[in-house]
Amino acid sequence: MDLPFGTQTPELDVLIVGGGLSGLSSALKILALESTLKVRMIEASDGLGGLMGQNSTRLVDAAQQDMLALLTLIHLSPRRRRSISGRLRRCWDLDRGLTALPAKFELGRYIEMLDLRMPKFRSKRFNLRERVSNMEQHICHHLFFSKSRNFMLNLVQLVCGVPANEVDYDVFMSVCSSCGGLKMLIDFYFTYPTSFDEISTQMLIENILEQLQFIKIILNCRAVRLEHFKNYVQVTDDQGNKHTAQAAILAIPWNKVQKLQFEPRIPKVFLPRTTSRSGQKQRQVISQFQLRYGKSVWTDLGYSGNFLSSQPLVSGHECRMSSFCGYVLHSPEDQDEVLQDVVDLLAEHFGEEMRQPLECQCFTDELNVAQHKPQTKPWHRVIWSSSSAVGTSYRSLMGGAVQSGFRAAVNAVFVVRPQVVSWKDMLVDRPKNGQDVVSAGRIRGLLSRLNLYNVTFYSFFVIGLIWLLNLGYARSI
Ligand SMILES: Cc1cc2nc3c(=O)[nH]c(=O)nc-3n(C[C@H](O)[C@H](O)[C@H](O)COP(=O)(O)OP(=O)(O)OC[C@H]3O[C@@H](n4cnc5c(N)ncnc54)[C@H](O)[C@@H]3O)c2cc1C
Repeated sequence: MDLPFGTQTPELDVLIVGGGLSGLSSALKILALESTLKVRMIEASDGLGGLMGQNSTRLVDAAQQDMLALLTLIHLSPRRRRSISGRLRRCWDLDRGLTALPAKFELGRYIEMLDLRMPKFRSKRFNLRERVSNMEQHICHHLFFSKSRNFMLNLVQLVCGVPANEVDYDVFMSVCSSCGGLKMLIDFYFTYPTSFDEISTQMLIENILEQLQFIKIILNCRAVRLEHFKNYVQVTDDQGNKHTAQAAILAIPWNKVQKLQFEPRIPKVFLPRTTSRSGQKQRQVISQFQLRYGKSVWTDLGYSGNFLSSQPLVSGHECRMSSFCGYVLHSPEDQDEVLQDVVDLLAEHFGEEMRQPLECQCFTDELNVAQHKPQTKPWHRVIWSSSSAVGTSYRSLMGGAVQSGFRAAVNAVFVVRPQVVSWKDMLVDRPKNGQDVVSAGRIRGLLSRLNLYNVTFYSFFVIGLIWLLNLGYARSI
């Protein structure tokens, strides 16, 4: 596509749109590569951090190498998660009721089956096949109990950002594969194991900002239009201000990129092949909350604080001493009552004391949609970032945000000052830790396919066959 020549001299070298973790990592890396560049960051909300929030806690595991590299760069060491005595139990709705045991059993088998098949779906091969079932159908065909179904439906929505009936099986498997595997995601979103380390997002942002003193950051400034010229990019914000730069990094998820007006239009080759279903339900939003109490009320009752309720999805855990944090998926209209509903739910399980937190915080955001192949190739001077859109390993997690941010920074500096980028900087893609080389036993693979439906079918089939043989034998004698 031939881009028109612009008539202005760009005021900036690089403009970063979005102040989430990927935008912040881009800014850090750009300065590490070339500190004399003129960089500006614009952020739509009134604070930095994006989906990770400004005052919450996030988990990291030792395999998220890019995230660990960032922590070293900003001199922040993750804290070991507080190890709560093994005697304490979790408070999950999946563990309650008569059907708890079979539901957990079939769910375990289903997760095992998907996990064993995952190495075939690498993000690079992200092929969307026709005639594949969507995840809702797949889940309902394999799981019998509503508890286990709800668990999986919620997980798909959290990972892909859209309801399970809009996500194809292949897409989900490819996205999960680039997120580090299904079990890993369950750990990050539901089980919060004590083997992971903890980071305070407030300290993370503060330490990053210490190193970004020479970058101008404008809050409450939403990009609405992007004009792409041959010699520069011009971004217009919601107040009508124009920002011209030699290169622009869009550190925002793809669903938010689609809300921008592009001139000229984004070429088809960059547009993700997403499946759009008729009669789509309204998108749910995510509210993340943090409640501080005088003491850990749940510990007195013998609970570790790990909480999960499936309808609506509320998940939480003890993040700091006597603080409870988590998230809830809900429709945008319920935003005002959501915190009260969560407190009521917690009070039902952990006692009335939960109704009186000393401090409470809650923020709501859209879910990032990760339903397409990672967009690692820039469009001339427009460079995509964001963990859900560009991350190829630990996608939709902080590791993916940092990886995409670092990669975008290298691409941007390559556009602006190619002489300072070495071939080593370009080598950011590295194979994931052993995940691709997992080879599962054949028998284990076959066994993992057994579920209540096919086991019942085969049992009836075998019983019928025996009965027929018996009948034939009886007649013959
Ligand atoms: C409940 C929950 C728990 C999680 N827990 C973990 C965990 O324990 N460990 C882990 O590794 N990961 C976790 N993650 C994932 C991690 O938080 C995200 O992957 C990461 O924060 C995404 O960063 P990002 O920069 O790619 O996107 P975002 O954080 O979404 O940043 C995008 C930014 O761009 C801004 N923006 C959007 N549109 C515009 C516009 N037009 N103009 C200007 N600015 C704009 C937004 O306001 C936002 O600040 C969790 C996610 C969720 C939802």
